[in-house]
Amino acid sequence: MRSYSHSLLGAGVGALVGNVMGIGFVLPAIVGMVAGLLPDVDEPSSAAGRAFGVWSKKMKNSWGHRTYTHTVYAVAITTIVMYISFRGIFVMLGLFPPGPYSLVVLAGLLSHIIADMTTRSGIYLFYPAKKLFFAGRWEADGKKEEIIVSLFGFVLLFVAFINS
Ligand SMILES: [Zn+2]
Repeated sequence: MRSYSHSLLGAGVGALVGNVMGIGFVLPAIVGMVAGLLPDVDEPSSAAGRAFGVWSKKMKNSWGHRTYTHTVYAVAITTIVMYISFRGIFVMLGLFPPGPYSLVVLAGLLSHIIADMTTRSGIYLFYPAKKLFFAGRWEADGKKEEIIVSLFGFVLLFVAFINS
């Protein structure tokens, strides 16, 4: 799935969680968008992969795409690391409430994994265990899927916006 679908969906779920948690709209949408892009750090041509440059190439060469970065453990570890960072750095500076923003991160990451699971290639949720998990059987990188996921993300974003 392409970066724009993941970013719209991540922004949508992030903004919605921000809504529910009462922490506003813009920042949760941005944090959700970044979290929604993050699992594809193992694909050098993706938005996250470009940001990580040579590290992303190393990841793809040693692990392949949609492996460790798309697992339940990666989601858990990233959320915990972000919680610690938010608590340590941002709270000190008076910026982010750690709990709600960690939930925004978690929502963004999960949105990515679930969206990828809707494709026919599936996800190894417990990699290196070679069991594929699916939430649908869409064609990978198919136009229909991209449009539906992007539209869904946009609708979530819009609902969060009018409720903020
Ligand atoms: Zn992915």
